[in-house]
Amino acid sequence: MGSRFDITVTAKDSAEGNKNIDLAVAEISRIEDLISSWNPNSQTSEINRNAGKNPVKVSYELYNLIERAISLSTLTDGAFDISYASMDKIWVFDGSVTQMPNTADIQSSVVKVGFQNIVLDSKNSTVFLKEEGMKIGFGAIGKGYAADKAKALLIEKGVTAGIINASGDMNTWGRQSNGEPWKVAITNPMDKNKVFALLPITQGAVVTSGDYEKFVTLDGKRYSHIIDPRTGFPSTGIISVTVFAPKAELADALATSVFVMGKEVGLNRINQMPQIECIIIDDQGNISTSEHIEIEKL
Ligand code: ADP
Ligand code: MG
Repeated sequence: MGSRFDITVTAKDSAEGNKNIDLAVAEISRIEDLISSWNPNSQTSEINRNAGKNPVKVSYELYNLIERAISLSTLTDGAFDISYASMDKIWVFDGSVTQMPNTADIQSSVVKVGFQNIVLDSKNSTVFLKEEGMKIGFGAIGKGYAADKAKALLIEKGVTAGIINASGDMNTWGRQSNGEPWKVAITNPMDKNKVFALLPITQGAVVTSGDYEKFVTLDGKRYSHIIDPRTGFPSTGIISVTVFAPKAELADALATSVFVMGKEVGLNRINQMPQIECIIIDDQGNISTSEHIEIEKL
């Protein structure tokens, strides 16, 4: 998935621990093969190749993931949209974009973005992208989904506690062997070697979307790797969003969505959702939190 996963499990000895970690790694690779848009053999690539042409029959697993992604688009008024992906030729976050992309190019690509044009047929388990040139990508939800699946598999195998850390998307269960809850450190995006808060977490996920790894600076303004699917422009104003949720998939998608929705709308939305909390850091370094969160500042 182009990102590093760290897996921690409690076990009676290292042989048992390693065996279980291998199971988690295999599960994550299996999911990558399903959702990767880089792997030409994945079902996701097959869907993208057939945009504007044919519906593609996919596994129930992928079908259900896409269905949940569309629900998240509805929930966030389109701030979250897996069909953002047709913009990925215009906004490339590997340092190669050095000047403002052409407005006409942005406009002609953004018309291809729209979750409303992802057509699902549950009877035949098919997915159809209505417009030619449309594309879907799981960059904002895939790591969280993989972390949830790996966790569920390990619980099923009897692993009583652990952490799946997908490059900062943390999914935990159980407690540390000394009985203490796992603690998650949130780094300060202004200085990534510094931790600014430590939070206990027993059962659930914490996901941070930060733009300190992938962004472009044009005319002195910082643009994040998260695109507003409604305008085709990268979101600005926020540099880090951390979301707490029972599942990593939801936390992952919501962290991306809050980036796009902005501080005010984002906090408002999160405050209406049970069991979801968030911490936002804006580009001035201001920290805002949702209503029911207390952070132990370091
Ligand atoms: P990260 O884990 O890289 O900090 P996120 O989980 O927030 O980031 O996902 C960002 C990735 O999601 C982008 O690199 C891109 O692949 C994809 N993406 C960008 N904008 C959107 C969007 N509005 N909706 C859904 N996916 C997006
Ligand atoms: Mg995300």
